[in-house]
Amino acid sequence: METVDCVVVGAGVIGLAVARALALAGREVIVLEATEGIGTETSSRNSEVIHAGIYYPAGSLMARFCVAGKKALYAYCRDRGVPFANCGKLIVATSETEDARLPMIMARAEVNGVTDLRLLSAAEARALEPNLYCTSAVLSPSTGIIDSHAYMLALQGDAENEGAAFVFHSPVEAGRVVPDGVEIFVGGADPITLRCRLLVNSAGLHAPALARKIASMPEEHIFPTYFAKGNYFILSGRSPFSRLIYPVPVPGGLGVHLTIDLGGQARFGPDVEWVDQIDYRVDPKRAESFYEAVRRYWPGLKDGALQPGYSGIRPKTVPPGAPGQDFVVQGPHAHGVPGLIHLFGIESPGLTASLALADHIAGMAGTA
Ligand SMILES: Cc1cc2nc3c(=O)[nH]c(=O)nc-3n(C[C@H](O)[C@H](O)[C@H](O)COP(=O)(O)OP(=O)(O)OC[C@H]3O[C@@H](n4cnc5c(N)ncnc54)[C@H](O)[C@@H]3O)c2cc1C
Repeated sequence: METVDCVVVGAGVIGLAVARALALAGREVIVLEATEGIGTETSSRNSEVIHAGIYYPAGSLMARFCVAGKKALYAYCRDRGVPFANCGKLIVATSETEDARLPMIMARAEVNGVTDLRLLSAAEARALEPNLYCTSAVLSPSTGIIDSHAYMLALQGDAENEGAAFVFHSPVEAGRVVPDGVEIFVGGADPITLRCRLLVNSAGLHAPALARKIASMPEEHIFPTYFAKGNYFILSGRSPFSRLIYPVPVPGGLGVHLTIDLGGQARFGPDVEWVDQIDYRVDPKRAESFYEAVRRYWPGLKDGALQPGYSGIRPKTVPPGAPGQDFVVQGPHAHGVPGLIHLFGIESPGLTASLALADHIAGMAGTA
């Protein structure tokens, strides 16, 4: 039976960044991906925003890895020629109650190390974005957008240049703990059994299901998964804004915000729709609630201007209504199984955090 040093399950942005970091640390790495290519699930179904790190609870992994990951990601994009734009964003209040929340958002950001936010009056915000309605706003200059596919290709290239191998159409179907690591059963057209000293489970939405298929993995340490779908609607015509526009956050998500891709296409979303199954179809009827939410900060939105776009699904470890979750990076110190690292609940800001999260995992791998 073949034995390899490290197996990374999943070639989403997290698996790619982890594979790169492990390969750069001199480890032998194989990435096993169930589908035909890189980034076919959540990593290509998001807003492509480089988040500043504003909202996350102080000291959380989300806060730490977002702020560190943002800096690393801008540097990486410049270094590797990955297209990005540091366009900035406005968080907009549209009532007195929301005005009162902006200083709290700023205070939390400050604790997280996001020290460049500026509180703007309605007039100052409108001077930047004439189509905007708000009662006050916060400007986040370090927020940006990225070509996430170009980023993932660059990560794959780096990993391969350091010797990592990628194998597609290779679903990891089961595993068991053996004395020197983990034995895994890989399905697909040519099923094989592999042994590895380190298994990193970065299977995104499927990470808890995969953890459950590894014999001897203690069930009580496997986090549940709840799917919080986020639907996007595309704006026909030119974007009315040059910065990203976010309402004050709502429970479960950041509210129906406007993001722009590098081609200048504006899209609204994602909303929050709790679902039991992975189904990416966007129900056109959901547009009704979008019109209402968007017109609070852009009254100029015309009837019929929104077209169903795409959707992504957030892997939540907590059910609807529960307080927010953090990333779960679970190694042997937590679950007691040597050679095994699980990543649960890697929702937003996973794209932004990817390089910092990967460095953390490469560090853990030395002792896993
Ligand atoms: C609606 C939405 C908007 C978001 N917006 C942003 C944003 O603007 N900025 C930001 O920073 N973050 C954002 N995020 C978060 C970010 O997209 C995710 O954190 C990130 O893409 C997760 O990457 P991943 O590699 O963990 O998962 P995935 O991209 O889902 O990759 C997992 C991979 O594992 C593979 N796989 C699964 N099971 C197996 C198996 N058994 N064997 C082999 N392969 C397997 C899958 O095929 C898949 O390719 C958003 C997320 C959502 C849902």
